[in-house]
Amino acid sequence: MAVIREHLASKGLGLFNDLQNEHSIVGNNPFVLMIRDFGRPDQQHLISDMLDRGAFRPTFGLTEPDHGSDATFMETRAVREDHKGESGWRINGEKMWTTGMHAATHCCLFARTSGEDGDARGITAFLVPAHAPGVKIEEYLWTFNMPTDHPRVSFTQVWVPDSAMFGPEGGGLALAQHFVHENRIRQAASSLGAAVFCIEESVKYARVRKPFGKPLADNQAIQFPLVELASTAEMLRLLIRKTAWEMDQMTKPEVEKRLSDKVSMCNYQANRLVCEAADRAMQVHGGIGYSRHKPFEHIYRHHRRYRITEGSEEIQIRKVAAWLFGFLGPRRKAFAEAGL
Ligand SMILES: Cc1cc2nc3c(=O)[nH]c(=O)nc-3n(C[C@H](O)[C@H](O)[C@H](O)COP(=O)(O)OP(=O)(O)OC[C@H]3O[C@@H](n4cnc5c(N)ncnc54)[C@H](O)[C@@H]3O)c2cc1C
Repeated sequence: MAVIREHLASKGLGLFNDLQNEHSIVGNNPFVLMIRDFGRPDQQHLISDMLDRGAFRPTFGLTEPDHGSDATFMETRAVREDHKGESGWRINGEKMWTTGMHAATHCCLFARTSGEDGDARGITAFLVPAHAPGVKIEEYLWTFNMPTDHPRVSFTQVWVPDSAMFGPEGGGLALAQHFVHENRIRQAASSLGAAVFCIEESVKYARVRKPFGKPLADNQAIQFPLVELASTAEMLRLLIRKTAWEMDQMTKPEVEKRLSDKVSMCNYQANRLVCEAADRAMQVHGGIGYSRHKPFEHIYRHHRRYRITEGSEEIQIRKVAAWLFGFLGPRRKAFAEAGL
């Protein structure tokens, strides 16, 4: 997926690579993998419901109006409650930026079922029908690029049976991590490809555009920034492909334990790179680069989002730091044993 996504994105915009709705010829559907890895046997049919018939179209409901990066402080609560003799859960809370809710059949909603604010344990995922009584889309948020499909959704006294639970009780964060790891590597590959497109288009334009009677490409002020971007793209390609390959060699919980820092490195670096490359492409192309007659502003608007949405870059850098310094991750034990 990483190789093909990068390739398609490096060809610019088109049906093969539609940034507006994030569709590509190569699908990236983390929910298929989440159901495969965390779904009960009676939930496995949801994979074919999703892929064959579109009968299951879930959204991802983690972020809340007052808690994004600090999702473990979420205020949404689910408490056990029987309903007409059936055991289940009563959910109350509010979610924010629940992308795709307008067309969803379900929201994969994360709620605290035990533990304290800030605890990683005690958060549980539920597959809540999008039209269950008490689910209400309160408003849609207008954004830099993708208007109207990101709502704030309230859940008031919503009751679901036990069978709506997805993954282990109290272990919902593992599902959320699974989801973001898949998205982070996908975004990284697409961002790298789009960066390469911006660089290549700028190089071509610089060779033919001749202000002052000579090609722009003759100026080192034009060359050097593009060289910096092209060098970073070359290095990132290796890291992204190595990381994607390693992800394929292990289970998703292992990715979380052994590779999470590398996935974050790929993501935040590639998303930064494409923003810098699109910005540079606008500059090299001058006025026409800023216009919608060229795709760079669209690429910028789309990929700029990725620096915030899949865990913002600060939160990912924070994770890399925690692993680097051994506060978390595989080096923790080694540092402790070395007395550091
Ligand atoms: C277009 C769009 C689509 C989205 N889709 C979904 C979705 O489908 N489902 C979903 O659940 N969420 C979704 N999100 C929400 C997204 O995951 C959050 O916006 C993101 O996690 C950041 O949370 P926040 O906006 O609350 O920012 P905050 O957590 O309030 O952070 C604000 C800023 O402070 C920085 N910051 C926070 N803590 C620290 C720290 N300790 N050190 C340094 N800097 C810090 C952050 O990086 C950020 O830049 C979407 C967001 C957008 C914009």
